[in-house]
Amino acid sequence: MNLVENILSISKYVFERNLVLGKAGNVSGRKRENDEDLIAITPTLKSLNRLKEEDIVLTNIDGDVLIGGVPSSELQMHLAIYKEREDVNGIVHTHSPYATGFSFSNFNLKRLEGFGKIEKEYIKKIPYKIPGSHELAKHASIALKNDDVLILENHGIVALGSTIEEAGDLVEFVEGIAKTQFISKLLNRL
Ligand SMILES: [Zn+2]
Repeated sequence: MNLVENILSISKYVFERNLVLGKAGNVSGRKRENDEDLIAITPTLKSLNRLKEEDIVLTNIDGDVLIGGVPSSELQMHLAIYKEREDVNGIVHTHSPYATGFSFSNFNLKRLEGFGKIEKEYIKKIPYKIPGSHELAKHASIALKNDDVLILENHGIVALGSTIEEAGDLVEFVEGIAKTQFISKLLNRL
């Protein structure tokens, strides 16, 4: 599967699992061609459910559009993460309901068993920065230096992977553990 097909397939995957709603969320991938990084990313203001090949935007690592229209408003965040992490080739950003609910609360999200090694008890969270801003790109990429997933306060989550599939699986996993912790918090109040 090529990079663009991969993006289309993970976009559909996260949409169908209700991890993105409306026109929110974005997916990107990186491949190296002739020693240069090529980034493919979903476009701005289009549902991830109905993307076609021609909707996917190709840029270089500096964000210059090579093919396609207007990229996701979070392109800068994706690029900053790729620059920081040589090992990352896929990024998925969502506002999935439960994980995002936690981002609007004072509760930290515990990293439960089921996806890789648990190195820290809680998933890292950064203070609110305006979506699409350079500030968000800077803070998110620094915070993700040694982590594979991040909660953006009052906004959503970002997950990384060595492949786009891996990043997609991780957002799904985090939404699942957020749901589990939401339910357990409710039950424990009964
Ligand atoms: Zn967002």
